[in-house]
Order: sequence, then C-alpha cells, then structure tokens
Amino acid sequence: MTFKELGLSDPILRSLEDLQHTEPSEIQRQAIPLILSGKNVMAAAQTGTGKTGSFVLPMIELLQNHAKPYRKHVHALVLTPTRELAAQVRENVYTYGKFTSITSAAIFGGAKIFPQKSKLKKGLDILVATPGRLLDLHNQKAVKLNQIQILVLDEEDHMLDMGFIHDIKKIIALTPSDRQNLLFSATFSPEIKKLAKTLGSDLVEIASESANTTVNAIKQIVYKVDRNQKSNLLSHLIHSEQWPQALVFSRTKHGSEKIAKKLIAAEIKTATIHGDKTQGARTRALREFKEKDVQVLVATDVAARGIDISNLPYVVNFDMPTYPNDYIHRIGRTGRAGKQGTAISFLSIEEHKFLRGIEELIGAKIQQKIEEGFRPLEKKDSEKRSDNFKSKKSGYKKRQATKKVKTNFKKSETNSNKNKKKGSKAKTRWKKGKGS
Ligand code: AMP
Repeated sequence: MTFKELGLSDPILRSLEDLQHTEPSEIQRQAIPLILSGKNVMAAAQTGTGKTGSFVLPMIELLQNHAKPYRKHVHALVLTPTRELAAQVRENVYTYGKFTSITSAAIFGGAKIFPQKSKLKKGLDILVATPGRLLDLHNQKAVKLNQIQILVLDEEDHMLDMGFIHDIKKIIALTPSDRQNLLFSATFSPEIKKLAKTLGSDLVEIASESANTTVNAIKQIVYKVDRNQKSNLLSHLIHSEQWPQALVFSRTKHGSEKIAKKLIAAEIKTATIHGDKTQGARTRALREFKEKDVQVLVATDVAARGIDISNLPYVVNFDMPTYPNDYIHRIGRTGRAGKQGTAISFLSIEEHKFLRGIEELIGAKIQQKIEEGFRPLEKKDSEKRSDNFKSKKSGYKKRQATKKVKTNFKKSETNSNKNKKKGSKAKTRWKKGKGS
C-alpha cells in the first residue's frame, strides 16, 4: 500500500518523498482513508507509530483546495496537552504541507501572547494549540472557532491527566456541531470513553497496535537498585555501555536538576527540560539534544511530551512513573518509526507498587536485572516496620526479663527484710524472754 493509494495528492506525496517516508505506517493506512471520507475517528495510537501523520496528512489534503478562512477564523484545530507537542505537531503540518498553500501556527502558554495574536489575525487553515492559551485568546477575541470543520484531540489521555477536561468541553462548545471529530489517545480510560460519546455516536474506532501495549521494537529492562545509588548506576551504565544518547525521566523538576548535576560531575554532557525553565531554555536544550551536542536530556513527564527525536536509543525512567500510562508515553520516545530502542527503568524498593500497575496495564512482565556492584541493600518500609517490631518485641522481652530479675531481686530483698524483721522480732522476743 502506498501513500498515493491512500488518496493523497501530489504536493503531499512530494513532501513525503523528501522525508523518505516511503510507506504509510499501520495507523496511517487505517486512519487516512477514513478521515478523507469525512468520518469521525477514535484512534488508539501511541506516540512513535506515525500517529501525527495519520491526521495531519489527510487534514492538509482536505483543506488545501478549500476556500481560505476569514479573519481570525480557523478551519481545523488540533488540541494538545503540552507546548512541546503543539510545536511538534505544527512542525509536522509545516513539513508535510510545504508544497501546499496551507497556513498554520502553534499557540501555547509560556510564550508572548502578542505575536500569537498577530498570527491569528489573517485566519489560519490549521491551528495547533494548548487549551488554556486558546481560551485566553478566544476571551480576548483574537480567534474565532465557529467555522471549525475538523477538531483533533491529540494525546487525550494526557489532556485528562493534566486536568484539561473543563477547558476541552468549553472549547468543543465554541465549535460548530457538524465538525469532523478525531480523537487520539495511547490509552482509553472510562473517562475518555465518556468524552468520546459526547463527540457523537458515529465514531469509527481504530487501533495501530492493541491499546495499552508498548511498541514491540522496544527492549524493556528494570534494574533493581537503591534510591541513593540511582545516579551512580546511571553514569555507570552510560559509561560502561557507551550509550550515545539518552532521555532520562525524573518525577520532579527539582529531581531532574539533581540528576543533571551528578551526571555533569561524572563528565556527561547533560541538559534539563522542565516547567520551571523558560520556553527559550527548553527550546535550546531540545535543539542541543537533537543536534547531539548534549548526551543526556533529563526531563519531567509534562515537558517531555511531544519530544520527537528520531534514532533515540535509550529512555531511562530514573523514577518509576506513578501513572502506568506515563510509562507507555515515556518509553514511546524510543523505538520510533520501527527503529530499535531500549527502555531502562530504575526500581527502588518503595516503587514496586508502580511496577505492578505498569505490568498490569501492558499485560506483560518486564525483565528485572541487578547490575554488579549495585545490589540493593534497602529494605521495604513494611520489612523495616516488621524489623522494628521484632526489635521492639525483643527489647520488650529483655525489659520483661530484667523486670522479672528486678522483681525477684526485690522479692528476695523484701523476704530477706522480712526475715531480718522476723529475726529482730525474734531477737526482741528473745531479749524480752531473756529480760522476763
Ligand atoms: P509520531 O508517532 O507521529 O510521533 O511519529 C513518530 C516518528 O515517525 C516521527 O519522527 C515521524 O517523522 C516518523 N514517521 C511518521 N510516519 C512515517 C512513515 N510513514 N515512514 C517513516 N517514518 C515516519
């Protein structure tokens, strides 16, 4: 099956040729014809499967011969959970549509609002946006959503995880009800299914691989290690296995800075990307990483969404992700577009519950390893508690034994006192007797 057979026209085929995308991916094969025929689609597709192309390509095809939008109007809207993903999707629109007259822009928080307003002035074929900033701009009357023909909700599971549900509902209410709906998500919680129902009863469901499974090309390993040894294990693996590059996930912004500090101390060129960094610093870190000037990029989940780096060989979960869905998204950063990748997760004793959740979600057990020299010594809290209990118990026993000895001693003391008294009484009696 070729892109041409899917119904895409020459200007788009030319850009695909330039990108050397010779064959459509599975999700593209399924989604493109459906979207071109105007169907509402709900797709279970992970990042790394070519899902962006699966909606961007037919959207460009549908809109390229369409009348241009009026001032401040947009014809297609893609909602994404993060700035990085918004920028990434927009980049895809730009590259896939470079031989067409499609106009597009990305708008997101954390960047100056004025330039975004001016991009919207003339109207756009495709707008990619994060929900909060879009509502801001709509409230300021900088954008109009009542002529939208196609609405895409991308990485919907993350949008809901990040609490965007109310914003999304508000935005949907601002768009015409006869629009085409496209919903993409790596996983489908009951909440997403509920939202999908509000989009219409005629959603065609498709899946690139079965939902909630990880991309097969990714080798997954869990290293059991003590929490305080994780940084050392990371620099050890990078050095000893000569990793060319790695994307490392940290649960917190503060944690990512700490990891970076340790890696830099181990002479590994490292950058960080998280919510406390300015948009400029985040873009710079990402660029340096893509250009391979930086060997390791340490990121938080939110910041890392939308990072598309081809040929990324290693992804590291420095902390086990608390939400199993995040595991799928994180490791989807490697093994992209059919390439081999390795996902490493560091598991400290208190993180076992997270691993159980992940294995339940992916329906498989992940291989566990212990690296020579990094055997975990820490004990589970429950084990510590039982140890404590045992030592308390033995302490109690000891105390009881000492008490017993003391009591016995006291008893014998009292007895001997009694005897003494008895003795002195007897003596008195004897004296008395003697005296009488
Ligand atoms: P996505 O799942 O949209 O994040 O895409 C993952 C990566 O696959 C991106 O780097 C795309 O450029 C690449 N890609 C998308 N479609 C194809 C294709 N048909 N052939 C080769 N690479 C592709």
